[in-house]
Amino acid sequence: MIYLSSPDITKLEIERVNTALSSRTLSGGLHKKEFEEKLAATAGTKYAVAVSSGTAALHLIMLALGIGAGDEVITTPFSFVASANCILYVGAKPVFCDIALPDLNLDPYELESKITARTKAILVVHIFGRPADMDMIRKIASKHGLPVVEDACEAIGAKFNGQPVGGLGTAGTFAFYPNKQITTGEGGAIVTNHRKIADYARSLANQGREDSGQWLQHIYLGYNYRLNELSAALGSAQLDRLPDILDQRAQVADWYYQELKDQPRIITPNESQADNQSYSWFVYVVRFRNKQFRDEISKRLAERGIETRPYFPAIHLQPLYRERFAYTEGAFPVAEAVAASSLALPFHTKISRKEVQEVCEHLKNALVQEERRLL
Ligand SMILES: *Cc1c(COP(=O)(O)O)cnc(C)c1O
Repeated sequence: MIYLSSPDITKLEIERVNTALSSRTLSGGLHKKEFEEKLAATAGTKYAVAVSSGTAALHLIMLALGIGAGDEVITTPFSFVASANCILYVGAKPVFCDIALPDLNLDPYELESKITARTKAILVVHIFGRPADMDMIRKIASKHGLPVVEDACEAIGAKFNGQPVGGLGTAGTFAFYPNKQITTGEGGAIVTNHRKIADYARSLANQGREDSGQWLQHIYLGYNYRLNELSAALGSAQLDRLPDILDQRAQVADWYYQELKDQPRIITPNESQADNQSYSWFVYVVRFRNKQFRDEISKRLAERGIETRPYFPAIHLQPLYRERFAYTEGAFPVAEAVAASSLALPFHTKISRKEVQEVCEHLKNALVQEERRLL
């Protein structure tokens, strides 16, 4: 089996988790504090609040920005569903803005046309670890007095104009599910330079308690979105290794590129990286010029024990969104075309060059067979 993703756990992580496990404090201790300090340094922000998932982090930012019923938040339809769901959690409406090639982030030239009197924020996703054009997006946002939320759940360590993502807007999020660049098992974080957002999010994640207050005094309607100490210790060790992990992932992306760059029927993700962008490779997603091939090729690869996945189906065409908002095909043509033709290949730090070659060989064979079949 060649797996789609894999966590990268070394002795360092095991030792740190053991230390946490052997202590008396399994939640709310020094490991979380240390993890948060390192996260803030990674994002270049003053504050970081570690929480139980990336989705929880997005939810808390929506609440901290005071977004609620009747409000609109502009976001991308080409993402993991959580980046739009968090807007629904608070009773607001996601207003989708189509994406642009080649980087597949929301199209800054279409963004301004989506702003209405109800717009309360712009929620940018740095999809697949590719930084969105934050210069243009921030310019439009500040012209209209809107906060910018960065969903950097797939992009820890990515840089735009040399600046780390997560800290480029009003508030940002990271996520640490096991398929992400670094993991805490389950976990996420909010990063921000705004003390009020950090304090409020921290309180809401901890049942609405005041930081200095008593344990059984609740000033807000809070949640239990806390990250435990074992996860924080794991994340802290992973974060120490982030530069190495990102280098290795870039190396694997380059191996794929060497195998696939001469294939006229495949669009590789390597080509879209601009001079002012530094990717944090989350997944390796190719596109097929002929989109009929995608599902058949995925099936043929599965028969060879090679795991792939169609990253991502467009959010507005998910059953929940079709039902609630009556979206149909054609609403966001670029996102739909990309969603229909994209395939994520096995991609993680444990994959060898030989396995990459094997995946690519089968991929090329499957492509030839599909072309013959359709003749
Ligand atoms: C993974 C991810 C999330 C959510 O993270 P979880 O920790 O799984 O809740 C949010 N947005 C994007 C774009 C993601 O890829």
